[in-house]
Amino acid sequence: MMEMSCAEHHNYAAASQFITLTVGRVLGALKLESTPINTTGYEALLGLVENTSSGDSFDLYYELFMHHENALEILERLGLAFDALKNQLFGYLHQFVGNQLFGNGNADKVAAPLQEDQNGTALVSSSTSKAMGWQNAAQPQDHKAQISDRFVDKSRLKIAIVGFGNFGQFLAKTMVRQGHLVLAYSRSDYPNVAQKLGVSYFSNAEDLFENRPEVVLICTSILSTEKVLRSLPLQRLKKNTLFVDVLSVKEFPRNLLLQNLPLDCDILCTHPMFGPESGKNGWNGLPFVYDKVRVGGDESRVSRCNKFLDIFAREGCKMVEMSCAEHDMHAAESQFITHTVGRVLGKLGLKSTAVDTNGYKTLLSLVETTAGDSFDLYYGLFLYNMNAMEQLKMLDMAFESLKKQLFRRLHGVIHNQIFEETPDKSQVMQ
Ligand code: NAP
Repeated sequence: MMEMSCAEHHNYAAASQFITLTVGRVLGALKLESTPINTTGYEALLGLVENTSSGDSFDLYYELFMHHENALEILERLGLAFDALKNQLFGYLHQFVGNQLFGNGNADKVAAPLQEDQNGTALVSSSTSKAMGWQNAAQPQDHKAQISDRFVDKSRLKIAIVGFGNFGQFLAKTMVRQGHLVLAYSRSDYPNVAQKLGVSYFSNAEDLFENRPEVVLICTSILSTEKVLRSLPLQRLKKNTLFVDVLSVKEFPRNLLLQNLPLDCDILCTHPMFGPESGKNGWNGLPFVYDKVRVGGDESRVSRCNKFLDIFAREGCKMVEMSCAEHDMHAAESQFITHTVGRVLGKLGLKSTAVDTNGYKTLLSLVETTAGDSFDLYYGLFLYNMNAMEQLKMLDMAFESLKKQLFRRLHGVIHNQIFEETPDKSQVMQ
């Protein structure tokens, strides 16, 4: 129960209600559908659509528009934020295509514009460009390999994380808590963060692989993965090491791993469908999608793969086995829409008020969930989603059509006032 003056209510609620209903109505026009692997963010969008477009009448929305003095400004700011995001995407795309046309067009160039605000040095050393055959393998272990000698508990895994950024660190926490031995390596240097998390950090991949991890977990950005994978000194690994990836798209890394890894090693493609924000209070009930792309038949290899999956099952994840193609069919669009809406709203600087509706809370939490993710991640979802351009166009059209609906009614009302109801027409015109 909250006692407040009507004026105060208007100050708090008008803008947030109008934004919430606008976003709900725009999304409603897209006819979003639930998938078997909804993220928390996407579930929230579906809920918002249900609350706003199916329950509330257009009259209610129109009344808010009419009675809120800043409604036009809000519509304009939403449009500008959407345009700014599209310009950012298209700017990157332009640079990418430019690199392909005028540069050498290889995968390194894909990531080039994305390194703008990164401080780290390049992960790839040019001398190790191609995966070498296993017959060259296994150098004698040096001092760092002592870790493997001490690691005898068979219920645990020795996991090497490649790409120790936001998500790599997030996953490492749980793996360490469960008692697994976690090693890491990344383009940037993270020895201090690693130490705090109980992870052994290596500043180069050679040293990391000298420790013969049982699992190599690829946690790099979608755009840099090809370059990183090609740079890894695979000859240092045990023969049938298990490679796992956690990229948010799945067909792309599946093909990449199949093409670049020797036949001896196992491949498990996964997508934990949550992140540091949505999974901060635990992973219980959150979807974890996996595809056993290639797992050798002998018992130890099957058990190693299952032990890895068990990390997520033990935390209560909803384990969904599904092919990479099926994953992309379900997830590419829903993820891209969710991140796009989160990023557009992020540009508006929305703030919590004393009287947030559930819908508005949804928007705020969506902004919070997506704000922590890198632009690289979003750009990867854009590039690797066949329908991304189409989806941007649909969002544009839905927004324009909602504005037209509002303005048409406004025009109708004023038209009536001028020609039918008001005696002093000059007043209305003003
Ligand atoms: P991200 O921006 O997608 O990836 C950051 C990671 O990629 C860092 O480890 C970074 O290394 C590395 N990286 C970026 N550019 C590189 C380059 N040119 N060369 C070498 N390494 C490069 O952010 P993220 O959130 O940490 O995601 C990591 C992976 O997990 C992505 O594939 C993403 O799709 C997937 N994923 C993320 C989430 C999430 O909620 N965040 C959820 C599910 C899956 P440095 O840090 O050393 O610079």
